Amino acid sequence: MKSYAGVCDMKAYSFGRTRIKVYGGLNSIGGNCIVVESPSKRVMFDQGVNFTRLKKFYGFSIRPDSVEELREMGVLPPREAYDGVEELYISHLHLDHLGSLNVPGNLQIYLPSVELAGALSRAWWFDWKQHLFPQTLSFTGFSTVTESKNIMAAKVSHSAYPSYAFRLETDDATILYTGDFRVSPLYPQFANTLEGFRELSVDRVDVLITEGTNFSRKMNYLSVQQFRTSIKDILEKYKRNILFISVHPLDLESTLIVLELLWKHGFIPVFTNPYYATLLDLQINSVNYEAEGSLIFSPLRTSRIRLLENFETAFISSLKNARIAIFIPGYDIKSIKTIVNLLETDSSGLVHITVFGEPISEEWVVEEIKVSNWLKLLGVTNLRVHLSGHYYPFEFKNLIGTIKPKEMIPIHTNSPDTMKTLFNRYK
Ligand SMILES: [Zn+2]
Ligand SMILES: [Zn+2]
Repeated sequence: MKSYAGVCDMKAYSFGRTRIKVYGGLNSIGGNCIVVESPSKRVMFDQGVNFTRLKKFYGFSIRPDSVEELREMGVLPPREAYDGVEELYISHLHLDHLGSLNVPGNLQIYLPSVELAGALSRAWWFDWKQHLFPQTLSFTGFSTVTESKNIMAAKVSHSAYPSYAFRLETDDATILYTGDFRVSPLYPQFANTLEGFRELSVDRVDVLITEGTNFSRKMNYLSVQQFRTSIKDILEKYKRNILFISVHPLDLESTLIVLELLWKHGFIPVFTNPYYATLLDLQINSVNYEAEGSLIFSPLRTSRIRLLENFETAFISSLKNARIAIFIPGYDIKSIKTIVNLLETDSSGLVHITVFGEPISEEWVVEEIKVSNWLKLLGVTNLRVHLSGHYYPFEFKNLIGTIKPKEMIPIHTNSPDTMKTLFNRYK
């Protein structure tokens, strides 16, 4: 393989006869790729897209030719990372962890949810994302992480549902890889992070590989309670009958909080985008969530009608006199124009709420400036409410106290040195 200077700065750590090679995610947010080798096994955790590299080399007119090119350019992990790897485990479906399912070699791939990955991939047909599809374009042959007999998986709370942490026992080391997570779950019954970590830490953990996204990150802090209060406050004061909302389609926990508040305040949640509605439908089924109110699916084209278990289908024009909150994915912002036309009203003075949690380098799905430009054109005001999908630095001590690892490798962070200093103080 060709290698360009600075493309792949793999770093290796040793613990007895176990080697841990980090091919992506060191000193950067996203693009995680870790290979654990010991005499009897070779396992990979995550193999994400490095969005910083993608943005550096590709755009509107310069596009990748192939998945191989993306590997050569350091956007995806290099081919050699997969040498001899028998199993690959994906912690969650954010693209900075999932990466391309067109992988070299003959390894068994374990996904957090095969069904959700399949549904998610329907948005990959355009642009560079087509290189993310499995070579066969089919999701048969993939397994779910909970089916594996070779590792232990526990659910953690994050802005993508479901998200897992993993425990792997090699010949001489027990390794815990956290993936991305919040310490304080929004719905502990779906994913209780610390309980999961306790299960995975029984007996001992030799090496903890953990994220540190929020170390030294500038953000507007909101607790879960304040997040609820902010949304509630908007819903109480807003007197119009039409509201727009964007939440990341995998962020089940935030979506459910918003849905519950909407029902309480007399809004009917409406989904116009079939892709968005399908993902929520599958997620709701996977947690056996009992909805307190109704969900409406209103595709803007009749050709897009499909049966969804948790939604009633209705034409958007039939909701003219109802109080509705319309969920649109950030990239589908233009549909506001079509929707207000069908509702025979205009968009001036309407509000669009964006719930966001992740640094842009994790997904890069929404081009924020373009979204703002469209909203301005439509006379719509955007209110942004932030709820981080990651734990906070002040929760780190609690994390270390729960897992009690002997060593720690920081990943998915711009502040690995701060994390190491704090780890040495708390361990
Ligand atoms: Zn991530
Ligand atoms: Zn993530």
